[in-house]
Amino acid sequence: MNAPAQSWERREIGSFFHTFTDLPSLREAGPVVFARGEGAYVQDTAGRRYFEANSGLWNMTLGFSEARLAEVARRQYAALPGYHTFFGRNSGPTVELAERMLALAPVPMSRVFFTNSGSEANESVVKLLWLMWAGEGQPRRRKLITRRNAYHGATVMASSLTGKDYVGAFGLPGPEIVTLGCPHAWRCAAPGEDETAFVRRLAAELEATIRAEGPDTIAGMFAEPVMGAGGVIVPPAGYFAAIQPILRGHGIPLVADEVICGFGRTGELWGSLAVGLLPDIVVASKSMSAGYFPMGAVMLSPEIDRRVTAACEAWEEFPHGFTTGGHPVGCAISLEAIRIITEDGILENVRSVGARFQEGLRTLARHPLVGEARGIGLMGALEMVSDKETRAPCPGEWRIGERIARMAGERGMIIRPLGSSVVLAPPFISSAQQIDDLVGVLGAILDEIEAGRGRQAA
Ligand code: PMP
Repeated sequence: MNAPAQSWERREIGSFFHTFTDLPSLREAGPVVFARGEGAYVQDTAGRRYFEANSGLWNMTLGFSEARLAEVARRQYAALPGYHTFFGRNSGPTVELAERMLALAPVPMSRVFFTNSGSEANESVVKLLWLMWAGEGQPRRRKLITRRNAYHGATVMASSLTGKDYVGAFGLPGPEIVTLGCPHAWRCAAPGEDETAFVRRLAAELEATIRAEGPDTIAGMFAEPVMGAGGVIVPPAGYFAAIQPILRGHGIPLVADEVICGFGRTGELWGSLAVGLLPDIVVASKSMSAGYFPMGAVMLSPEIDRRVTAACEAWEEFPHGFTTGGHPVGCAISLEAIRIITEDGILENVRSVGARFQEGLRTLARHPLVGEARGIGLMGALEMVSDKETRAPCPGEWRIGERIARMAGERGMIIRPLGSSVVLAPPFISSAQQIDDLVGVLGAILDEIEAGRGRQAA
């Protein structure tokens, strides 16, 4: 006799080791296993349908049924299903994607190489900077500047660059990391300090930190144009304009981590364009392939390209690379994804539904539970507070973010909890109606929680 069929959920618990998953919630609610997707929706194995208000992990920007991406993948698999880029080898789609990305770069860039992920791209940049400085006779320039709440990935150096306490679980960050304050005005500006004064203080902190560490020990600074996993932190106006001259003055390259912002999320093709960031190096991933293939990229300015190339002379190569970096199928998919985003009205859609989404968030900001509603384009966050006046965070035991996300799930919406906040990043193909529904559901959930709070207090 056959053993009784087990549910996907039970099989999942029995076999799969979850990462980045809140274990108490997993124990309580169990996993969700998905079976298919259509447009901006995914369907689980029990047949429940959800609007994916996070685009998966920010990456499924063109939704879950873009047939043109499947078709280019099919064609490329038939023509050349895989190749590498070592030993001077390459494949057509890889070269074409490199050209296309350089043509679209936020500032003039001269060359690009590919990885399989955002983490690998950031990790590669660290090695590239270290090799460059050592080649120029400055091997002490190894320190990397980052900011609190930054997220740059999960490999060792990318994790070190991530300004979150949990990296301490691994004994990180290492000694090379220098962490600055988070440019979150609502939370981090001093009482009575306006945005201009806050920016001035952040710039002074950067200058003082560089001097204290020793400018000749610093290899580079990493920054997301808009912080994503840190809670969608849009820097105050003038932030990058204020810090860039300081970095330039000390010869410190600025790396724009465009993994989330790149290819449209903010309503501009690059987050750098939205916030006045002038990068020396650009890192991209996620929306680049619309999540249909693991892809990452590093773009180098002409100056960095020249300097790294010169430093490589001693080794007769850049001794680095990934077996499947620049995979022809991933590059073919990325070319088509980028074509759809730039030529098929997608960027325009992000701008128009993004404006509607931001308006909706601002409406929710009036709710008694909401301390701040923030965002840009199709990325946003709601930060809940226990006291709107004092901005006191919700006590941890409320598990408010988790609670809102669970209630949203029950209403057919996937959103992401982050402490006392929830993070939202709907697909670029979202309609105005879907955005209105999302905002409406969030409002109803907040009302329900607030009514419960009122009843408890009574
Ligand atoms: N940088 C940023 C800004 C990210 O948001 C992420 C992933 N969310 C990464 C890097 C790491 O990318 P990956 O998970 O593809 O390694």
